[in-house]
Amino acid sequence: MNQPNVTLPSAPYLAEPGSATATSLYIDGEWRAARNGRVREILDPADASVLTIVSEGGRADTEAAIAAARRAFDSGEWRRTTAADRGDILHRIADLLQRDREEIAVMESLDTGKTIEEGGMDVDDVTDVFRYYAGLADKDAGRLVAAPEGVHSKVVYEPVGVCGMITPWNYPLLQLAWKMAPAIAAGNTMVIKPSEVTPVTTAKLVELSTEAGIPAGVVNLVMGSGPDAGAPLSEHPDVDLISFTGGLVTGRRIMAAASETVKKVALELGGKNPNIIFPDVDLDTAVDYALNAAFFHSGQVCSAGARLIVHNEVHDAFTTELARRAEAIRIGRGQDEGVRCGPLTSAEHRAKVEKAVARGREEGARIIAGGKRPDEPELQDGYFYRPTVFVDCDRSMDIVQNEVFGPVVTVERFETEEQAIELGNDTDYGLSGGVWTSDTARGERVAAALRHGTVWINDYGPYFPGAEWGGFGRSGVGRELGLAGLDEYREAKHIYRNLAPEPQRWFG
Ligand code: NAD
Repeated sequence: MNQPNVTLPSAPYLAEPGSATATSLYIDGEWRAARNGRVREILDPADASVLTIVSEGGRADTEAAIAAARRAFDSGEWRRTTAADRGDILHRIADLLQRDREEIAVMESLDTGKTIEEGGMDVDDVTDVFRYYAGLADKDAGRLVAAPEGVHSKVVYEPVGVCGMITPWNYPLLQLAWKMAPAIAAGNTMVIKPSEVTPVTTAKLVELSTEAGIPAGVVNLVMGSGPDAGAPLSEHPDVDLISFTGGLVTGRRIMAAASETVKKVALELGGKNPNIIFPDVDLDTAVDYALNAAFFHSGQVCSAGARLIVHNEVHDAFTTELARRAEAIRIGRGQDEGVRCGPLTSAEHRAKVEKAVARGREEGARIIAGGKRPDEPELQDGYFYRPTVFVDCDRSMDIVQNEVFGPVVTVERFETEEQAIELGNDTDYGLSGGVWTSDTARGERVAAALRHGTVWINDYGPYFPGAEWGGFGRSGVGRELGLAGLDEYREAKHIYRNLAPEPQRWFG
């Protein structure tokens, strides 16, 4: 049961459990029901109770949203707003996020299972992202290019057009902000499709964007399944760019579908991220960070440090302590005081995690913590899973190579720096990684050698709005955040003016 004092804040777009109708699609400045009238139950992952009812849109709704975004873009009114005005809107969204911080933190906690504290941290991070792009919006209008006398050459930036944005369930608010803030800064219009499992804070952010002054048609929201409501975004000729965060298999499908109309494609996909521990570090601190890296948000983090690579000399002491602390992690509903790991997001997702753990056992990896659901009677209705540590792992195992996206960490051993680097790069992914050492030069050498989009030295997890985020290899295409995150949403145009054209007579 929900805690009596923590319930989902009410909102016009969130219908009461049991309702047969809902108006949670936002198209052309109006909250609407799905055309076919369908609705979906959104569950609390901590006990499988119904939190709210939302509209279950389909292809027709997404096409209506694309048409609205196209009209809003083509009319020119929005894209001709000044960059400074768009920056002001982004600042207003940031102010409104902070005004409603506690409400949004509760929404995100109930919807995803994360703790309220983490929900609040997400709101703060997202606020910073909106402020960063608010500041950047009017800072770079283009440049003059060196040209011969009599020629004037300049490069200017223009919005790409209609952007489709598809987001996953682990960080619904945050992943959307990384797309929406730069897209608004650059003057695009958009259609957003959140994960059907966790759509609540996406609707809230859309509501705040309208309150901040975004005109009708610029930001549109469809909810529904990937194949029904999402797929039209990667197929439709009126969508100019598709930005997707989610799994590798879906990413491939989206890229293939987008190739038909040669859309711009930005993909933020999975990771199987190495966290390398050299023996010259303070073990207490390294174990502490390794726990955070592996088990924060129950490991449902694309950059989770799920693949520990530990030096032989400290392997036994490190893993013994890691297992002891993993067993002591307090699991429970994210709204309860002192809880550190909430439930997994859905029954289907927990089933995937359990299958991966079973495969790890078959492969010969040995579990020294977790490996099962919790025993507590009050946790039996939710989708909980105990933090799990595998040792005796090697690089050939599925449990080491494939993303589990749950509270599961594997440990491999190494002896030399070269071996550590080789293992750290032995992945099809390349999203992020960590290296722990008190030797500064070694830290820099390993960071330079790792083929991953982000490398932390003696830390794990932090990011800045101003620093690019994205993957090498199969972790994705393009970058979010930073200057490159804005460039994803801009077309560069070269304008060449001949100041004194004279006949060239090439053809006589
Ligand atoms: P998913 O790929 O199953 O779904 C993501 C989104 O795609 C959802 O909104 C879904 O409805 C939609 N979708 C599904 N099929 C579609 C289709 N055919 N066309 C269009 N849209 C479709 O991923 P998930 O399970 O929600 O999220 C987990 C994955 O996301 C993990 O692999 C994780 O690593 C990745 N992720 C990556 C980052 C990053 O920054 N690189 C961040 C967060 C999550």
